Amino acid sequence: MTLARFAGATDPGRRRRRNEDSYVIDPPVFAVADGMGGAQAGEVASKLAAGAVKEHGADVESLVQEANRRVHQRSLEDPNTSGMGTTLTVAAVEDSVVSIGHVGDSRAYLVRDGNLEQLTEDHSLVGELMRTGKLSAEEAGSHPQRSMITRALGTDPNVDVDIFSVEPRIGDLFLLCSDGLTSMVDDREILRLVGEKRGDLQELVKVLIKAANKGGGEDNITVVAFEIGEAPDGEDTVVVPAPSAEPDTQPDDEDTLTEADHVPTVDTVVVSVDEISAVYERDRQRASAPRGRRRLLTRALSFLVVIALLFGVAYLIVWGLAA
Ligand code: MG
Repeated sequence: MTLARFAGATDPGRRRRRNEDSYVIDPPVFAVADGMGGAQAGEVASKLAAGAVKEHGADVESLVQEANRRVHQRSLEDPNTSGMGTTLTVAAVEDSVVSIGHVGDSRAYLVRDGNLEQLTEDHSLVGELMRTGKLSAEEAGSHPQRSMITRALGTDPNVDVDIFSVEPRIGDLFLLCSDGLTSMVDDREILRLVGEKRGDLQELVKVLIKAANKGGGEDNITVVAFEIGEAPDGEDTVVVPAPSAEPDTQPDDEDTLTEADHVPTVDTVVVSVDEISAVYERDRQRASAPRGRRRLLTRALSFLVVIALLFGVAYLIVWGLAA
């Protein structure tokens, strides 16, 4: 097998002034990071994580932990970046496995035998609600808190990372993407576009981004794709081509904040899993509140009717006696 082809692209989308997403194409390592925080902090966070990924050599788990350490450290040192964080989804092709490390709501997909499989679990409010059966996929798409994530890189000194591996097969196509794609384009449409455009991966990532923009482009959109092909010598383990001169890490490494960067653009926030239940309970109570008010009104009206009837009867008796 061989790591035959790969491509990636990012786009700010149609609603955001800044692009807080970053990606890494540095075979055999690929990654997508979606930063968050006020001002330019989200960009700083995702770039720091991408930078840590670039300096790979370690296993995926330590690579993600190192990225976490760097983002967290910076947020402690620089008050402008306090509270910043980022998602990180990394895939490393290692001999006969593809190792994946994941935190947040960016996603890794595998297209195999004409099917699209989401490999990662979304660490998000709606993801948790869906897993516990409290929300359907349709409701999740329009949920007002759909940008709340439950795990992020950089918000704490340590991070809980999902680590797993996939045994690759010839013809496998892996996609890494930020939620700017998946919140605008559903899985069926992604699969359809893959079927149409996978002959040219650079074209495919462009077309996916275009579809997200057409769907509204409400967030920054990033897509990275890589494919496992057949090696000329029929080798079973994945042969990675010699690294090119410069790894493709986007955007550039300008990662300091200035006063001019104070643009109030807070979007994604991190919540704990405990808070999810509280939010869910509050929403449920709000939804049932009108019913509660209606019941109160009905009771008050019934009470008035009874009083009126009593007065009527009393009046009739008094009137009868007088007559
Ligand atoms: Mg995003």
